[in-house]
Amino acid sequence: MRVNTISTCTGFVIMEKILFVIPPYVSFDSFVNPAFNDGTTTKKSGKYRNIVADFPMGVLSLSAYLKKNANVEVKLIDFNIVLNKLESFEYKSFSELFNDILSSKKYVEFVPTIIGISTLFTPAYYNMLDIAKVCKKLFSNSLIVAGGGVPTNMYREIFKVSKSFDALCFGEGEKPMLDLIQTKNKYLHINNNPSWITYKKIRTKKSFRHNFIIDLDEIPFFDLDIIKIDDYRLTSVLSTFPLAKERMKGMSFMTSRGCVHRCCFCASHSVHGRQMRFHSIVRIENDLRKLKRDYGIKLVVFFDDHFMANRERVFKIVNIMKNLQLTAFFPASLTLYALDRKMLEALKSIGLNELVLSVESGSDKVLREVMHKPLNLSIVKRVIKDCQELGIDTDVAILIGLPGETKKDIEDTRSFLKTLNATWFRINIATPLAGSEMLEICLRKNYLKGDYISCDFKRPVIGTEDFTPEYIQEKAYALNLELNFVENSDFKLGNYKKALRGFENTIRVKNDHAFAYYFAARCCKSLKQNKKYMEYKNNYKKIIKDSEFWRNYFRQFNLEPLRYDLTYLN
Ligand code: SF4
Repeated sequence: MRVNTISTCTGFVIMEKILFVIPPYVSFDSFVNPAFNDGTTTKKSGKYRNIVADFPMGVLSLSAYLKKNANVEVKLIDFNIVLNKLESFEYKSFSELFNDILSSKKYVEFVPTIIGISTLFTPAYYNMLDIAKVCKKLFSNSLIVAGGGVPTNMYREIFKVSKSFDALCFGEGEKPMLDLIQTKNKYLHINNNPSWITYKKIRTKKSFRHNFIIDLDEIPFFDLDIIKIDDYRLTSVLSTFPLAKERMKGMSFMTSRGCVHRCCFCASHSVHGRQMRFHSIVRIENDLRKLKRDYGIKLVVFFDDHFMANRERVFKIVNIMKNLQLTAFFPASLTLYALDRKMLEALKSIGLNELVLSVESGSDKVLREVMHKPLNLSIVKRVIKDCQELGIDTDVAILIGLPGETKKDIEDTRSFLKTLNATWFRINIATPLAGSEMLEICLRKNYLKGDYISCDFKRPVIGTEDFTPEYIQEKAYALNLELNFVENSDFKLGNYKKALRGFENTIRVKNDHAFAYYFAARCCKSLKQNKKYMEYKNNYKKIIKDSEFWRNYFRQFNLEPLRYDLTYLN
């Protein structure tokens, strides 16, 4: 039996030593060979794909809950942070990296009794398997478990190819992990408890059950002692939003779990369920005070699946934030139907100047019949108009390439989006997440044309009677160029300063983006920023000269060459 009691010199008894591990969110191949539409970062050894790494809220909550209710010592290793911090990347595989880091003195001397691998999204699937394999070799006496969206939905696939896991957690992990820690015979427990999935149980066709905490206040404030907050500052999701107040000290936060809606592309319910559960207003106020007082936070980044579930509650939270002089950002979007004028004015009153809007489609038919999304286009028009009047920038998220969508639907979307004066558009490619209705449809109708496990909103794998994956890839990129650059609403309206901000942000994450240089140069020309104009113009000319890819797009959109006009600039 494994060691689960350790006496220390103080006489204090530590029941468990838990090592949480977060796998890289991208595959090794896409990290070392970024695609044309990936953001990149340069290290001494070359160019790599950018990894967006946010505060691992699930693990931070889990750790806080376990520390409150049991004797545990916790360490966390987030390989996304490890990769982002490496000055040079010399490994031939991620497995080599995992082995190198996990075999270091820090972890070997820790002697974890439980290793918990947290895997939320499918692109981390193979990394999760490799980490478990390395852990099995290095820590043969540890119990190896995994939790999150991937183990909850892909347990059959995992146990088919891996012998490294002792058990996988079904849904949220707080209660199942606590029960596991508090039990004497862990093997007996994982084999009897319906929130734990084992190989044996799958073979005997046992069913699994969520074990949710209904009153979220039972979970203490995040255990921030297991991370370095600054590690997440520059890599957070804010860095991918051109409009966000990236430089402001922000922190991820959740006030609820669950979502009542049934969007076909979403898998959130498989982990958090469809019933809403909340933190109390008193608790939220205390946490926000703490964030401000103890961590100097000014910007709260809300990741609730359905923040707008209760309007009155939202107004109360906004009021608290106003009193504490905190501002907010909602990267996961807010339900558009709840964003009436009164709500938008309340959000504006706490300094919210930009909103991500998950519009997803510009076709009422697709929203209703394909996505099952609680939205129609008249609401979209009204919200964007209100935002424009209130001085709130809008970042509109769109998804194309879903089963059931047609080329005509995508053209309808394009036409509709061109009528919106949104600040920025984010054109994503439909990704069949494990646990989503969309994946079920794709499997049933044989629509998967590639490995859906590695796809990540940028690489299409769905092909139907109506379109091929290649068509969707091309269409998504062309839409991005058309809506954000050629038809950029701020550029067309003469708001060159604001338009320039978006173009320069694109240059920051993708420094070979010819359209970004071209339109940034045109903004600088109008703003009479001579030096920058020349710099951007020269960059654009160099890229165009060297790249057939960009020359094609310049031809496609019929863009005029830039001419240096000194009289105009003087
Ligand atoms: S996409 Fe958002 S609104 Fe739709 S089901 Fe998922 S969490 Fe709910």
